[in-house]
Amino acid sequence: MKVCRAPERPEMEQAQFDTLRTKTLEVHDRLVRVFGTPSRTGHLDPVSELVSAILSQNTSDVNRDRAYRRLRTRLPTWEAVRDADVREVREAIHPAGLSEIKAPRIQEALRRITQPDGHPSLDFLRHMNVEEARNWLMGIKGVGPKTASIILLFSMGRPAFPVDTHIHRVTRRLALIGPRASREQAHDILERLVPPELYYPFHINVIRHGREVCRPQPRCEVCVLRDLCCYYAACVQGTPTGEEKSAVCETGS
Ligand code: SF4
Repeated sequence: MKVCRAPERPEMEQAQFDTLRTKTLEVHDRLVRVFGTPSRTGHLDPVSELVSAILSQNTSDVNRDRAYRRLRTRLPTWEAVRDADVREVREAIHPAGLSEIKAPRIQEALRRITQPDGHPSLDFLRHMNVEEARNWLMGIKGVGPKTASIILLFSMGRPAFPVDTHIHRVTRRLALIGPRASREQAHDILERLVPPELYYPFHINVIRHGREVCRPQPRCEVCVLRDLCCYYAACVQGTPTGEEKSAVCETGS
């Protein structure tokens, strides 16, 4: 079933929603057959995830993890990081790059979430609905919609759907979202199309698919989603002609 008319916004007619929901579930089933059902283990607690997310901006996972480990070794508690001289934090997180921006952001975030007992904590978010919690988190400098949703989904088990570059590229190529949908729009559309109980496995498996198969230069020849894919139909098998088709073919980043 190949449906290539996809929305740029979460509002859509019921018939289109039903079709895209069916397609989304088919994508999910096939990726689970290839990659399995990811288990929810190895995630950080919410405060650690917040710091790690700030460290991860504009750097690789490897450098983020090196910086995170150095920070935890040198300043083992979040209170110590918050209260340290900013130069000490900057030096510890040096491997992540942009340390002159990230160090004060981390300290400011930790101050902002410090509770009356003196400890940084995000537990109060559990009393808010997902939208309120996401908006609260996005009030912290350096926290955008993706980071906020990662904290909520990974560390707190809340139904939020983070959209990173892989998810954005793959879902545009599959036309679950429109070719011109921004990441923010993608986030709203996918939060509607994917059933909340599947946010986590769908997120993890689409990222894996984007890293291993549907790369910027896609390996369509080994892809199990070919018959569902609008990029494959328009840009690999066919010659793009219409405006919509050429937009799909530009989803290489
Ligand atoms: S067929 Fe190609 S473009 Fe489509 S999802 Fe698979 S790898 Fe990506």
